[in-house]
Amino acid sequence: MIEKYCGGGMLYWNPAVERLSAEELKQLQGKKLRQTVDFAYNHSPFYRKLYDQAGIKPDDIKSIEDVTKLPFVKKQDLRDNYPFGMFAVPLSHIVRLHASSGTTGKPTVTGYTFGDLDLWTESLARGMYAAGVRKEDVVQNAYGYGLFTGGLGFHYAAERLGATVVPASSGNTQRQIELMMDLGSTVICCTPSYMVYLAEYAAKMGIDIEKDTKLRIGFFGAEPWSEETRKRIEDKTGLDAINVYGTSEISGPVVCECSEKTGIHFWSDIFLIEVIDPDTGEQLSEGEKGELVVTVLGKEGLPMIRWRTGDITSIIEEKCNCGRYHPRIERIMGRADDMFIVRGVNVFPSQVEYALMQVNEVSEHYQIILERDEAGLDDMRIQVEIKPEFHNKMDVNQLTKKVADTLKSYLNVTPKVEIMEPESLPRFEGKAKRVIDRRKV
Ligand code: ADP
Ligand code: ZN
Repeated sequence: MIEKYCGGGMLYWNPAVERLSAEELKQLQGKKLRQTVDFAYNHSPFYRKLYDQAGIKPDDIKSIEDVTKLPFVKKQDLRDNYPFGMFAVPLSHIVRLHASSGTTGKPTVTGYTFGDLDLWTESLARGMYAAGVRKEDVVQNAYGYGLFTGGLGFHYAAERLGATVVPASSGNTQRQIELMMDLGSTVICCTPSYMVYLAEYAAKMGIDIEKDTKLRIGFFGAEPWSEETRKRIEDKTGLDAINVYGTSEISGPVVCECSEKTGIHFWSDIFLIEVIDPDTGEQLSEGEKGELVVTVLGKEGLPMIRWRTGDITSIIEEKCNCGRYHPRIERIMGRADDMFIVRGVNVFPSQVEYALMQVNEVSEHYQIILERDEAGLDDMRIQVEIKPEFHNKMDVNQLTKKVADTLKSYLNVTPKVEIMEPESLPRFEGKAKRVIDRRKV
């Protein structure tokens, strides 16, 4: 386990803000929210129109409670204004463009001023520091470099910490393992599904990540993953597996867990977060699950004020054991539109993963196939690989039943289960594609 750095004054990356009390943070947020709304209203025709239509003037925003007066911004707004229609500054002030992965449709374009890049880097660097990264670390960055925000986001954050960056980008798995060994990487950044694959690949090369490499911390995100998968990755690799979150609209990967690993800290001087009921738009209380809404304080190129992320989680306001009051969010269950309904029961792919990982004999490689039966009802078929050490050594029917029973007990539906041979399902270098939808709409 990594040392617990948190708690000691000089061991914060940015003690001036990291050590503020809950009350001080709220005051600061109120001030920054007002400035952010004022900037958007006066520079972005999109926001001016949005607020004029809602009858809101920047002066109406006096504290963070007033945030509920502001209308939400949604993915559709970005699509309607593709590519630059929501920018608040001319292109001559934009120094970089990125695009979302396009998981739910046409990718959206995001633009950054120098100030925006600085804010993004500060946020992630602070998070990485809180998770235990120091300038002595060698950070192997296996997120894709390019339009996807993962690569450059981690690159600049790790550099800012003074760590040594290995800009490996995603893919070329054998080379990743060689780099890790030769350069003595201590930190790895990639999707959780790629980490599972890296560990599998290393084992085939006769390399035990825990014993044969210096890796100690991994930053895993960009897709939903379960607590059970964290446990499996940590057991297999000896890493501290840290959950990282972000979307291109709120810059990219921006926030992560501290070394306590009890939720993702959203820095209050940079973000104002809410969780809402996705149907009514009403704010929910601490601990209640709903859609995460993020306001980025001080973002200039593409202001994001009450951005509906579509991601389902809840807020933890309580002071963290690391000593920080900056609020945390629970692990993301998935997007609201990832949810599917099987026989009247709501199911998130992440719940399927959680349940599957309870069964010791199956590996982390699975996929969910959605089909429609003759009666027009939705059906779910789950394919999961047996672990190599159990292959041909146990009764597959028995294992099928065990998996189906476990899924039933967690999900309240009985899916069809197919136990697959080792290495028969796809592997992923970036975001995994777990759900195959064969329903005819
Ligand atoms: P796209 O929305 O096209 O996939 P992004 O690359 O911006 O584009 O991806 C952001 C999305 O990735 C988030 O909205 C969320 O659904 C998912 N995501 C990112 N990090 C995590 C995480 N740690 N846990 C669960 N989901 C995550
Ligand atoms: Zn903490």
